[in-house]
This record gives sequence, C-alpha cells and structure tokens, in this order.
Amino acid sequence: MTTSPVAFRPLGLCTICQEDLTPADSRQMICTHLFHQACIGQWLENHDTCPLCRVVFLIEADLPTLPVWRIDRLWHQIFFSPHRRTQMAQVLHSLPHRSPYDQRRILTEAFDVAIQSDPQSIPIFLNRLKWILHLRQFNALLTRALQNAIVQRQRDSLVHLFLGTANLRSEHRSQLIRALRRVFSDEDVKIFLVNDVLPGLRRCTHPPKMRRKAIGLLLKSTA
Ligand SMILES: [Zn+2]
Ligand SMILES: [Zn+2]
Repeated sequence: MTTSPVAFRPLGLCTICQEDLTPADSRQMICTHLFHQACIGQWLENHDTCPLCRVVFLIEADLPTLPVWRIDRLWHQIFFSPHRRTQMAQVLHSLPHRSPYDQRRILTEAFDVAIQSDPQSIPIFLNRLKWILHLRQFNALLTRALQNAIVQRQRDSLVHLFLGTANLRSEHRSQLIRALRRVFSDEDVKIFLVNDVLPGLRRCTHPPKMRRKAIGLLLKSTA
C-alpha cells in the first residue's frame, strides 16, 4: 500500500459544476467543503449558505453593505446555526455603519425571529431596540410581543421578554406597566403569568438584579 503525498491526493469534484478540483483553483469553506473559487464566488452572490451542508457563511467585511433583505434572510439561517451566538454578534457589530431606519428594520426582524426560534436571545435584541426606537414604538413592540406570547402560551418567550425589560429607565417602565395593565386585565392571563411565567423568571440563570427587575415589572403589571 502506498501513501500519496497530500498535494497529489485527488480533491474530488466541485458539486456546483461537477468538474475536478485542483489545489490551485479550489477554495475550502469553514464547513470544510471544497468548491472552485469561481463557482463558490458566483454562488455567494445570491446565497448565504454552503450548497452542500447549509452552514451560514458570513463574510464580515460585506455585512455593513449587504442589502437589508439579505440580512433579514440571514437571521432565519443564523438562528438555526450551531454558531449562532458568534454570527449574531458579527451582524450586530456591523449595524452602527447603517442608517437608523435600516437598523430599526434589521433589529425588529431579528427580534421577531428570536421570539419564534431562540427566546434566550430576546434580551439581546430588546436591549438594542431600546436605543433605536422611540419610547412609544418600543413599548408598542414589546406589548405586542407579550400579547402574542400570551395567546400562544409561550412561557420561555415570556420569561425572556420580561428579562429584556430589566434595563429600562424608570419613566420607561412606568409607561410600560400602564400599557401592560390594559393587556393583562384578563383574570386568566394573570393566573397564567403568575403561576407559569413567574416561577420561570425566579429559576432562570440571569443575574439576580435583572431577575428582580423583571419580576417587579410582571407583578406590577398584573396587580
Ligand atoms: Zn466548480
Ligand atoms: Zn458545507
């Protein structure tokens, strides 16, 4: 049995064009899949994932200038990626280069996806949205999200939505409490929040100060 030197090991076929790959013209992606430099370059003009395994390719340098619809599509892939925390951080890091209008759109979309797919990341987005939205817009967004989560009995999302309110300023919180009292006037909703969501807030691993504030908001809005 002979072992051929690495350089001569056949690299196989490029799955995009079905032609042989050679070390000179191939490019290895983070998922270790190989393609022709030119083939994958063309693919990436319209896609954000590996054609074989669907791992998300983020090219950090491109993020600040990608069209907003491409970022919207990216969120849906990032939230299912095993590297989602790092990739989320990369997209968030690129936001200050954009207009406030684009930032609002991108963060609102991410917040919606987070509620559906990754409740733990809700506070990350609420914390950003707090700075970019007007007080009234922020309260409307949060109230609507809480309302939806109550209707769908999404306990985890509710816990993290409340946690996301921990860093609000006091005048902001009192406005929100007023809005929430209207939403939470139903006895059935109050019982669900106190019996199901409150224990989740007490048990979660977030810093005690953050939990205390979130619990305070829940109790005051159901009083
Ligand atoms: Zn190819
Ligand atoms: Zn791949």
